[in-house]
Amino acid sequence: MLEYKLEEVNESYVRVSPAPASGDELTEEIRACMIRLASRALRNSFAPYSRYNVAAAVLTTSGRIYTGVNIESSLLSCTICAERNAIFHAAACGERKLIAVAIVGGLEAAEKETDFDEYCTPCGVCRQVMRDFGDPETMRVICAKSETDYREWTLGQLLPESFGPESLEDRTPET
Ligand SMILES: [Zn+2]
Repeated sequence: MLEYKLEEVNESYVRVSPAPASGDELTEEIRACMIRLASRALRNSFAPYSRYNVAAAVLTTSGRIYTGVNIESSLLSCTICAERNAIFHAAACGERKLIAVAIVGGLEAAEKETDFDEYCTPCGVCRQVMRDFGDPETMRVICAKSETDYREWTLGQLLPESFGPESLEDRTPET
């Protein structure tokens, strides 16, 4: 397994070097770092209506980890999940490929920093957006109660038989 160096640029931004590739095995240090960054971001979750706080951290192929939190709107359909917020944060910075996502949260979870009550799993919409930026065979989805207590799946396990970018590739038979 590769040795990675984790450089904490600030409290919500970490750079992993060398940059991991799709399919590389994650180290416990990287997992713990992603869960820690998501847990720190959780205090910024804005969920006055559901009181269900969620934060996510995504690791990309550039070796950067980006965070996002759920943001609710009084017009509830405008609400966005933490996972998509983190993915769009990464995409807006030019990232196009995700290695893994770590998610923490729960009812009134923003009052805590660790030892959450549940493994907060991504909704169907977020699983679909992950599919646009992650390889279903190798992208990891980590749902954590703490840095050492988590469950982990591949994206393909959470979204089997999925629709993705290849579905729109031109497959017109040549005549
Ligand atoms: Zn979602």
